[in-house]
Amino acid sequence: MTVQDLTPSHSAPTDASLEAQVQSGVLGVVFSLVLGCIKRSKRGTADRIIQTSRIATKRAGIKMGPVGAQDEKTKVPGTYREVGRSCPTECRFHPVHFERASLFSPCYAVRGNVGIHSARGGADAQVSAISALVAMMARQGEIAIARKRSATHREFLAQVGNPRVGARLHVSGDFVKDGEIDAEYIGLLCEAADMVRGHFGVKGNAAVAYTYTHIPRERFEIWRMILKGHGIHVTYSKDNAVSEDFLGGEAIVYAHSEIEELRKLLPAYVTPVLCPAQTRKDWSCSRCTLCSVGNVGMLVVLDPHGSGARKIKALN
Ligand code: SF4
Repeated sequence: MTVQDLTPSHSAPTDASLEAQVQSGVLGVVFSLVLGCIKRSKRGTADRIIQTSRIATKRAGIKMGPVGAQDEKTKVPGTYREVGRSCPTECRFHPVHFERASLFSPCYAVRGNVGIHSARGGADAQVSAISALVAMMARQGEIAIARKRSATHREFLAQVGNPRVGARLHVSGDFVKDGEIDAEYIGLLCEAADMVRGHFGVKGNAAVAYTYTHIPRERFEIWRMILKGHGIHVTYSKDNAVSEDFLGGEAIVYAHSEIEELRKLLPAYVTPVLCPAQTRKDWSCSRCTLCSVGNVGMLVVLDPHGSGARKIKALN
């Protein structure tokens, strides 16, 4: 059975879209450049690896999208894609659903710093995959260096959090390009993840990267499974607590203060869990595997955050 046999025709990956990219070689060049940066890195931090990789790729004439070293909540490297062009219209915050588009969308990624990175991110498959490769390597690079330099396991964990947690892909944006699931982007991500897993010896269910999608399960499940097989974990973002089916292992943006109301709306087999990074000061995604490695029967509840938080709370 091929991938195409399992996939709805409107979003089927073609052999050409997956294989042509495997032969393109640009990811291999970036891989070598970033590896050089990791080997030369004195400080060994993801931040430094990303900075030097940005310079190296620019010198080589290779376009790389935005990559952040970490933010307050995740504490792992993350990438950005353009909100709207790379998002499915099934997301209720997609700019197409709002008059004057992004100005009125409560999406947390259309304004502020994330909005700036998002606008720079674009929706080009290769540019986004190059950013993802840099982010994944920066995360694995900092883990490898910390492992070597730490005197004790406790010291190692204090530096990197949970080593099974990988980079955060597209903090803004999704797996779409102009309305269709972007097979080219997914193919390149799988190729990049294989390089990283192979080189750094990432095994088992450890994630080299994780992210969320607003693409409905019925359209995306085959892709989620393919990505999972390459070490990239995808959690479904749910928009609505009442009208959607839950299988567990999803996430929803819902006011933490309304958790008891949410509990009443959910099927009995789904347990809502407040995102610990939003309830504890000493926590971050780098220490937590709920979204990056996966969970069964749980719904991660993210308190509305970012510039659209008030609007989202009003919608719940
Ligand atoms: S549940 Fe864990 S991994 Fe998910 S967003 Fe919160 S801290 Fe991060």
